[in-house]
Amino acid sequence: MTQALYRKYRPKGWDTVIGQDHVVQTLTNSIKADRVGHAYLFAGPRGTGKTTVARLLAKAVNCLAEDPAHRPCNTCKNCEAVNENRFMDMIEIDAASNNGVDDVRDLREKINFSPSQGKYKVYVVDEVHMLSGGAFNALLKTLEEPPPHAIFVLATTEIHKIPATVLSRCQRHEFRRVPVDEIVVNLKHIVAAENLIADDEALTLIARQSAGGMRDAQSLLDQLSSTGTKITLALAQTVLGTATSKTVLDIISSVLDHQPAHGLETIHRALDSGADPRSLARQIVEYLRGLMLIQMGNIDQVEATREVKIQMESHAKSFNTSEVLRMMKIFNNAATDLRGGWQPSLSIELALAEAIENPTESPQIAVSSLLGAASDPPKSVPVTRTESQPEVKSASSPLGKRPCLTSL
Ligand SMILES: [Zn+2]
Repeated sequence: MTQALYRKYRPKGWDTVIGQDHVVQTLTNSIKADRVGHAYLFAGPRGTGKTTVARLLAKAVNCLAEDPAHRPCNTCKNCEAVNENRFMDMIEIDAASNNGVDDVRDLREKINFSPSQGKYKVYVVDEVHMLSGGAFNALLKTLEEPPPHAIFVLATTEIHKIPATVLSRCQRHEFRRVPVDEIVVNLKHIVAAENLIADDEALTLIARQSAGGMRDAQSLLDQLSSTGTKITLALAQTVLGTATSKTVLDIISSVLDHQPAHGLETIHRALDSGADPRSLARQIVEYLRGLMLIQMGNIDQVEATREVKIQMESHAKSFNTSEVLRMMKIFNNAATDLRGGWQPSLSIELALAEAIENPTESPQIAVSSLLGAASDPPKSVPVTRTESQPEVKSASSPLGKRPCLTSL
């Protein structure tokens, strides 16, 4: 039994769709009232349930249950056929691989044939934004005059790429990112059903990492459960690559102690053993973000094991907030620096040097002027706390890097 969790726990009825109540409400109302449209556009981030809801719609319009309020019933022969992936009248097309005019022409020829099993032929076109311009035009002709037995569900993660002419012919539904707590509830349900053992913090981390995508969260859980051991926060962090490694702690300590040699040595050791410099920089930023949260009194939002939290609290006391912000900016630049191809470690080495050098003088000016904070800038530098002095900001940062808070 190796069925993926997200397939196994894919909702079979409207009541189990997670985080998309507004879409479900509208669709179930139209099914009850027997007022189903002929063209739908489902837009939203990946893994939020667009094709799942499209399947539910296909099942509901073809369900044989007497009472429309009970469709899909999951017991009639049509519902069962959809659930077992053998329903001929639900046609799923991946526009990423069938994006040409010929593919759409082919669809237009076949669409006029009556459904073979159910009442409606439901075409689910996934990643519809991938269609070529010509294919969109061909599709548009079909959307203008669809045969009465045809329903289109176009799904996309990139609605801005859909021509207005197509948009205007579709009933549009926006799928939202699923909130972390709703994902956690669902993961707990799967954990119980699969007889897995998992810590709540680990499930929260999985939910956060999946950025509101239910499918991604379930896939991550799948990956972790395949280790065959208890799913702890430490395990989740290791597998997801978000663990605060000793490397990160050592690098931050070397900044604190003004020990560039030790810091560089730590970086080189990590890179020599296969670490990716940019992901190391990201881990440092994530750690610094934790320090900032602690300094602001939000320790609850910090995801770290108890041992790491103890170390973090100590670091949070040793740096002031503007130092932490400055380091975040420096290492964030290193994490997003796409250059340095000839010497991949250069960005993070520079970041370390920059973080250690001159740690207190200028950054407070930059931060206070950017934030409009009420702290006093050093008297030697004339600064007014307005947004209109970019030259002061850029001059205040070592190596000419302009502080930038937008990435925070
Ligand atoms: Zn049914």
